[in-house]
Amino acid sequence: MTTVVIGSGINGMVAAAELARAGVPTVLLERADRIGGFIAADPERTVPGFLHDTYSSWHPLFVSSAAFGELGGELAARGLAYSNSETAVTASTADVQGERRTSIAYRDPARTAEGFASAADRDAYLGMLEEFGTRAPTIFGALGAELGSAPVLGKLGWKAVRGLKVAGVEELARDALTSARSYLRRKFTGWEVDALWTPWGLHSGLGPDHATGGMMIPVFAAAMHQFGLPIVTGGVQGFLTAFESLLRDSGVEIRTGVEAEEIVTAGGKVTGVQTSAGLITADTVLASVSPGALYGTLLARAPEVATQRKSATSYRPGRAAMQLHFALDKPLQWEDEALREVPLVHLSDGSGSTGIACAQAEAGLLPSSPTVVVGQQSVVDSSRAPEGKATLWLQLQEVPFAPIGDAREQIDTSGGWDDAELRQRYVDRVLDRLEEFAPGTKSTILGTDVIAPTDLLAANPNAIAGDPYGGSAELDQNLRWRPFPGAAEHRTPIAGVWHIGAATHPGPGLGAGSGHIVAQRIITRRTR
Ligand SMILES: Cc1cc2nc3c(=O)[nH]c(=O)nc-3n(C[C@H](O)[C@H](O)[C@H](O)COP(=O)(O)OP(=O)(O)OC[C@H]3O[C@@H](n4cnc5c(N)ncnc54)[C@H](O)[C@@H]3O)c2cc1C
Repeated sequence: MTTVVIGSGINGMVAAAELARAGVPTVLLERADRIGGFIAADPERTVPGFLHDTYSSWHPLFVSSAAFGELGGELAARGLAYSNSETAVTASTADVQGERRTSIAYRDPARTAEGFASAADRDAYLGMLEEFGTRAPTIFGALGAELGSAPVLGKLGWKAVRGLKVAGVEELARDALTSARSYLRRKFTGWEVDALWTPWGLHSGLGPDHATGGMMIPVFAAAMHQFGLPIVTGGVQGFLTAFESLLRDSGVEIRTGVEAEEIVTAGGKVTGVQTSAGLITADTVLASVSPGALYGTLLARAPEVATQRKSATSYRPGRAAMQLHFALDKPLQWEDEALREVPLVHLSDGSGSTGIACAQAEAGLLPSSPTVVVGQQSVVDSSRAPEGKATLWLQLQEVPFAPIGDAREQIDTSGGWDDAELRQRYVDRVLDRLEEFAPGTKSTILGTDVIAPTDLLAANPNAIAGDPYGGSAELDQNLRWRPFPGAAEHRTPIAGVWHIGAATHPGPGLGAGSGHIVAQRIITRRTR
């Protein structure tokens, strides 16, 4: 019997590859005309000769994942190669009351700490990383396990108590229930650590005031010191080519341009998938779709999931995002020359400006001073642009999907993101902000590509309301409760139907956690 994987994002690709390599006949269905989901490299987004990663670009989560452990060698044999920085990895820069503040993280934690003004903060930073080392087995154990299962949770808790003792578990729980802002205020007196790491919370869908931020700050810091920010050498097309070759060599039947329309069931069991190109008989289905699509559309006729269907209607998207690409005549001329070597810079002072921008976006307003994620891929991979030139990848993660106004009261938002003028004026705001730190940037632009929140949704139906992360990551929809209680174990009430993807534990990003967890569960069951 066949296993059908619906959706070829990172979780779908990993699951299909692992299942097929274990001998399970597998079909990978994708409605788009290419595989990859939010991994894409459309040629010529700006100007010929410039290689842009259309959506995701940074692979620390993939190279540190269990899936990479399983498939990394096979992908490397098919041409996957990474470029990374061995020195500066990320930085934040801001103007605070006329004072220019820049903080840089290097691969070396000690060198990073040397940049903090306060001796106490330097010690506290290294202490935080040391403490993280003791917590890592518990945190990664939780991120890689079926947290929705009470027995699994019990085992994890028992292991945590053995490793950390009761007091250590309590302290970890306290940090996990704390926001990034509160955690950092408790631990540090200066501004540097907050400026550096709070904006990283945005990359997992969190704002500075969301619970779990306190636990995630050391995760981001430790991950970037250890793994840096690898990008695919030559652009993510190399990743997709290697993956497609691995899938085909493993025997996966890839069917692009085919949409799953219904998961067919009988007597509480899956029997097949009705697609835009006909029926596929199957005894197992992994669906990498939104909860609304799974329970409300694909399983719309299954009475067994009535409770889940109801819960899915109140599953919330997070903030929307925008992705901007530029071809530049020369690399960014940062006033602070140290930033010219940093692959990814945030324009943010930490929980101050990022907190305000998040609050404005949550209120439906275009932020007055958005956090700008400035990706300079050419710094570590010269093949991304012709000699002497550069690519620029700007990401905005504090954007309302349906803006009701502008926090500066300058831009008319009544036409929504389909209004070309609204897009242009907001892009101008972002570029003006960049000009404060890298003057002259606008005059070096050779080509521009704007991906608005509505474009994200048009490209991928999983990006409900333009949310790049498949649903808000606030604690009530995260960890043991992702996507919601009663559906967090990837299994569904229909025998043989599994839910994977960013909307399921352990959430978004390229770590492929849900695809790997579910594939391994199925393989273990079959070989038992
Ligand atoms: C702009 C942007 C930048 C990002 N940057 C990074 C980054 O640098 N690093 C990082 O780790 N993460 C990043 N992320 C997040 C990361 O890309 C996503 O969390 C991850 O790719 C989601 O993977 P997924 O497996 O959930 O599937 P998706 O990528 O969401 O893919 C799901 C696929 O399923 C298909 N599909 C849906 N319904 C059906 C159906 N009924 N039938 C057939 N096919 C269907 C869709 O067409 C889509 O191709 C970024 C996201 C965005 C949007």
